Amino acid sequence: MTIFDIGFGSLHLRVPPVARSDTDAHCYATNLGAAVPEAKPIPAANRLLATLPRKERQDFIDQMQRVELVYGEVLYEPGEKIAYVYFPNDSVVSLLTLVDRHHALEVGLVGREGMVGVPLALEISLSPVRALVQGSGTAMRMKAAPFLRAFRESHALQRQLHHYTYALMAQITQTAACNRFHVVEARLARWLLMTHDRMLTNPFQLTQEFLSQMLGVRRVGVTKAARALQKNALISYSRGNITILDRTGLEAACCSCYEIVKDIHGAA
Ligand SMILES: [Zn+2]
Repeated sequence: MTIFDIGFGSLHLRVPPVARSDTDAHCYATNLGAAVPEAKPIPAANRLLATLPRKERQDFIDQMQRVELVYGEVLYEPGEKIAYVYFPNDSVVSLLTLVDRHHALEVGLVGREGMVGVPLALEISLSPVRALVQGSGTAMRMKAAPFLRAFRESHALQRQLHHYTYALMAQITQTAACNRFHVVEARLARWLLMTHDRMLTNPFQLTQEFLSQMLGVRRVGVTKAARALQKNALISYSRGNITILDRTGLEAACCSCYEIVKDIHGAA
């Protein structure tokens, strides 16, 4: 069961553990994560890394650091040089586009299925979007220069990143249409499901202002949509707590964009 706590303008999401059997990739902890003892093998849950051939994957991971990404942390701003790429394990990163310098709208979501810093795989060193940590958790981080060397040498990595880039483009274009044509309630349901799919065990915190950016609506619109989902017994919303009661029902309530994007990511 997924539990949200909304109160005083903040929202906390707790999700059930997700099996990590989709990967046997391992890496070695750095001193960046206080809870992870140094040099102890830990799973790299990122699925893109997990698809690489074993030796290539290990060589690649050996050049990485495992880092803790913290909710609200900005990894890149638009126009900034991409210093690192990130392969999320159980963290979630939002890609936001800025309009008139102060309006921000989410156009993409990256979790353990992908990589943050895709422009580098297209030989572009600047980020066109703001990359904002939406869900705290771990990621595998690599400096741009060694990443580019590895990318140019590895056909397997090129293949995976080409497929992922296609899937991310499809997600971004679908999100553009979704923001224009689908109602807030259906988009909130989609957003909850997409985030749930990408989280492992970590809770994450989210302000209502942040969620309004994700959906491109005012805070009152977020509250109204959450209440509508509660009325249909898909979530509960009481004294600041929201609980997903019926994930299947939530899938039925969300717009068609959820399945379209999920299928593309699954096939890529
Ligand atoms: Zn939609």
